Amino acid sequence: MAACTAIVGINWGDEGKGRMVDLLTEDFDIVVRFQGGGNAGHTIINKYGKFDLHLLPAGVFRENVVNVLGNGVALDPEILAKEIEDLQGRGISITPKNVMISDRASLLLPWHRKLDVLEERRLKEKKTGSTKQGIAPFYSDKYQKKAVLAGELFYPEKLRQHLNDLRVWKNMILTNVYGADPVSEEELEAWLHNCCEKLMPFIRDTRAYLLEAERNQRRILFEAQLGALRDPDYGIYPYTTSSNVLAAYAPIGSGLPGAKIDRVIGVFKAYSTCLGEGPFVCEFKGEEAERLRKLGGEEYSMTGKPRRVGPIDLVATRYGVQVQAATELTLTKLDVLSSLDEIPLCVRYRLRGEEIDYFPYPADLEECEPVYETMKGWKCDISGVRDWWDLPREAQAYVNRIENAVGQVIRCISVGPERHSIIRRG
Ligand code: GDP
Repeated sequence: MAACTAIVGINWGDEGKGRMVDLLTEDFDIVVRFQGGGNAGHTIINKYGKFDLHLLPAGVFRENVVNVLGNGVALDPEILAKEIEDLQGRGISITPKNVMISDRASLLLPWHRKLDVLEERRLKEKKTGSTKQGIAPFYSDKYQKKAVLAGELFYPEKLRQHLNDLRVWKNMILTNVYGADPVSEEELEAWLHNCCEKLMPFIRDTRAYLLEAERNQRRILFEAQLGALRDPDYGIYPYTTSSNVLAAYAPIGSGLPGAKIDRVIGVFKAYSTCLGEGPFVCEFKGEEAERLRKLGGEEYSMTGKPRRVGPIDLVATRYGVQVQAATELTLTKLDVLSSLDEIPLCVRYRLRGEEIDYFPYPADLEECEPVYETMKGWKCDISGVRDWWDLPREAQAYVNRIENAVGQVIRCISVGPERHSIIRRG
């Protein structure tokens, strides 16, 4: 068992990472979220029920697992305080013993969500497809050094001064640029009282905690949000998120900058889905899209919009595997394809008349068309299968074809959303 493992997305996000973290945490002591914020939506179904986690790491359902929100996270006190309350209300134990927040995580402030909404509105049809959770304004401010760290909550006088300085500056932008209402001092006070104060017992120096844990060879799992194609440096910029979603960033965003990750589990679906704007080469349209969307339960997402869908994209997936430096893969939602007679796979792109097998520069991506190959479907329910050798030959062939194309081993195959709907391969 590797000491440090990362679970990351290979495609556009929503690959089923949360359900894998929930499953795999039986072998780990600590789970750390290292980037992103309340825009994540990890659906988990286990013996306690069905949960949608936005900020809490998916290890919260295991009694002996410690869950850390690292310094790289966009810490939204409103979402987190509510999530903690909801889970506690459903009988899940959330205490400062099993949930820790880095004192160096920055707070997503009340104006970030407002600015996100206003900017998407201003962009009209040129919008980048934000989830409107304030993530882009948050990370812009963080790197502009206009952020408030979670640890500042313990210095109330300095904090109020700092918040007020930022508020005055932000109100100039809200009112003069967007013609919106300013944020009042009372609004900020209420936010501090109702959301931030509830989080204070969980805030601590998690770097010191993790360093000690690493020294004691405790098993650490880094949990990512979104997927490789949404990474701001390697994804389909500007239709990306604003924090690095790659495994390589996990040590930095977690508080263990020197950690070596021995195992990177890349998660991807048996078909493609993409939420939001941006080039999506093998997108199905019309009835074909409706059918796949329905089969995969992709009609609703956290933005309230249906996901865009298409067949598996082996070009994008191979690229995702490379940039994540995945050492093994998990294929999810294979059960969704069970009723299809034939299964298309996008094996190459056609760019200006030429077939290519590499993932091109974002501007070229917009001009690419998919080149398909089809494979025979298996036409039977596989959701109860737990052993590779019990999978129909056609399903095995599909998995093998993907594995060969992307150049990495698929160690786990998920055939249902429940914790144990999984086939492990050696
Ligand atoms: P994440 O953000 O990567 O954790 O993924 P999401 O939770 O947003 O999306 C994955 C969705 O697929 C959730 O609704 C899961 O319950 C569901 N899911 C995960 N794995 C499987 C699977 O193997 N089969 C089926 N049918 N559903 C799955």
